Amino acid sequence: MRVGIAGLGTVGSCVYAILKEKGDEIEKRSGRKCIVSKVITRTHSKYEKLGIPSDLIAEDFEDLIINSDIVVETIGGTGAARTLIKQSLDLNRTVVTANKMLISEFGNEFTNSSPTKSLFFEAAVGGGIPIISLLEDYLIFHGIKRVRGILNGTTNFILSEMLRGMDYAEALEIAQKKGYAEADPSSDVKGYDAAYKLSVLMGVKTGIFPGISNIETTGIEEINKRDLERAASSDKKVKLIGTIDFEKGSAFVKPQEVERNDPLWSVDGVENAIEVETDLSGRFILRGEGAGAQPTATAIISDILRASRYAEKQSNSVVIMKFGGTSVDSAEKIKDVAEMVKKKVLSGVKPVVVVSAMGIETDILHDLAREISSRPNGREMDMLLATGEQKSIALVAMAIQELGMKSISLSGNQARIQTDSNFSNARIVGIDADLINRYLSNGYVPVAAGFQGSTYTGEITTLGRGGSDLTAVVLAKALGSQLCEIYKDVDGVYSADPRIVKDARPIKEISWEEMIELSKQGAQVLQSRASEFARKYDIKVLVKNAHTNARGTLIWRGSKVEQPIVRAVTSDDEIVKVVLEEVPDRPGIAARVLKTLTEQNVNIDMIIQSMRSGEFNTMAFTVQANDLAKLRQDILKARSEAREITIEREIAKISIVGVNLTATPAIAATLFETLANEGINIDMISASNSRISVVIDSKKVHLAVNAIHSAFNLEEIA
Ligand code: ADP
Ligand code: ASP
Ligand code: MG
Repeated sequence: MRVGIAGLGTVGSCVYAILKEKGDEIEKRSGRKCIVSKVITRTHSKYEKLGIPSDLIAEDFEDLIINSDIVVETIGGTGAARTLIKQSLDLNRTVVTANKMLISEFGNEFTNSSPTKSLFFEAAVGGGIPIISLLEDYLIFHGIKRVRGILNGTTNFILSEMLRGMDYAEALEIAQKKGYAEADPSSDVKGYDAAYKLSVLMGVKTGIFPGISNIETTGIEEINKRDLERAASSDKKVKLIGTIDFEKGSAFVKPQEVERNDPLWSVDGVENAIEVETDLSGRFILRGEGAGAQPTATAIISDILRASRYAEKQSNSVVIMKFGGTSVDSAEKIKDVAEMVKKKVLSGVKPVVVVSAMGIETDILHDLAREISSRPNGREMDMLLATGEQKSIALVAMAIQELGMKSISLSGNQARIQTDSNFSNARIVGIDADLINRYLSNGYVPVAAGFQGSTYTGEITTLGRGGSDLTAVVLAKALGSQLCEIYKDVDGVYSADPRIVKDARPIKEISWEEMIELSKQGAQVLQSRASEFARKYDIKVLVKNAHTNARGTLIWRGSKVEQPIVRAVTSDDEIVKVVLEEVPDRPGIAARVLKTLTEQNVNIDMIIQSMRSGEFNTMAFTVQANDLAKLRQDILKARSEAREITIEREIAKISIVGVNLTATPAIAATLFETLANEGINIDMISASNSRISVVIDSKKVHLAVNAIHSAFNLEEIA
């Protein structure tokens, strides 16, 4: 289990220290490995003070969340902590917190899509007293009648001092001097702290956190020496007691007199005590240290262990690690991949590796086939292309074994990835994860071939160019893994192709919708079918650099944004323009053109029609260059009655991709103006809410992309 710690105050640093020093012992006793994977705090000097290595320091909350299975929140308060917890649960992480105020007041909004328990907060009530796990686990089948207790050490200390003859102000001052009370003691002395704890306990039992406005609360400020003396004269003590009566559904905090035979009578000083009454086991009492760094931190560690038991059940410790061709194109790089896999295994995660063919192997195989046949047979083509991935999986598995781990390579067929028989662009129809799961539970690192599958008759198929990305997300879904990591030779998804724009920046997070557009408009980072699948099945994808520690780009449902955002600019020069000259201006012709293209399985992108004279139009559309071979020009010419068909190859499509782009015309205006200023002519335009595309002269791509990138300040905001 990878543990991310947010906040390094007394409690957070204590958790860090315990995990670091006692990690092995905890593993020996619990059978669970818990490693601190990231930490984050506002006070940067803490990092040095605690000797935290730089690769453990998270850049931001997301970086921490993505790299942890369990997020420990010790920031406190209801600001940043609330955001962190929400985001962690959104990303299906387990959260452990000590934040009673947050759970009491906002616990109801922390719902999570995952069916298993994912929010733990033992440390929020009673520090070293394990009341919550007692209620949740041990007493789960009991009817809880009543919980009552001394829940606040500060007020109990003050009352104990007053009993020895001090007045309220003096006692408070001592408490502050000893560090039991804060400079502003109101949360304690007004009874709110105890009320928060009652609200948390009610939530544990009922599922609804009432919040302290629904708990009648009286503090100890009004109590004076005389009240205590009066109580003492009849052998009683005054204590600040919180009570939940589950039968009546009521909860209150108030100073009460307790008799000598009451188990709370002897609880003095900073101690806490909680009495529980159940239908089956009557009354019993828990008593101990209610606060302090060490008890609170140990409660957090226990929660981490409890959480890891739940997390294991939902097997979300599986992570897909996909390496593209650029990351495995030499023996050295393959050894690097094995090292990264080892690091993952050591952090307690179970990786399933997916690899592409080495370097440009697939291109080489393609070219080889073309030398032999201009229209190679589909079955033989896939038989050939699949060898690329077969080579790399074997080598990667060997490299992992070389590092002392168990590993096994699996072809698409062996990994049971079933497809239809549409060779070279097969669709996945099913996947049987049993075998991979068995390898995982026996401690293997499975290395699956990307880009390939097999039909039910055992024919080898491939999934279309860039198809290893699809294999990766499909396996992520089939194995119920929490994250699909795609490793590249770049730091993530950039605001523009980094080979074209020097100032391009990696984007921190992006929605699937935007990513799908980006892929379709020419950013090669992720296959668009893979993004579409990930969107459909709610799979989070992290695109990362295989060679650096950079945080990478998180692709997920995305944070909600209303205002228009231009996220990236892309270019695609693999398109051609097909122009139908002098098409008769008659109803029905355009429909006929489109029908013909559909029959020939040619996808068109942009389309325009312009009036030449009263009788004739010019129609033009763009297609992917490699679709051109499928276009039967003779048939199209006859059906459209065009005088001539010409093909323009020197064109490229430039697109800006983002959110709500058509909400204001200013965005399109900036785009057109930027191109005009550079003297670049716009040939075709198309727009949707998430992209605006223009077709220009392909020689101007570099100039256009750079100008647009800086016109929208993408080097700053990405
Ligand atoms: P892999 O071999 O890992 O599959 P690819 O070669 O398919 O990797 O894709 C990675 C390349 O895509 C990068 O080297 C980068 O130059 C290019 N690229 C194009 N557009 C972008 C973009 N917007 N963000 C990141 N990389 C991009
Ligand atoms: N090797 C295949 C290709 O080059 C699949 C992939 O890399 O994702 O398209
Ligand atoms: Mg690729």
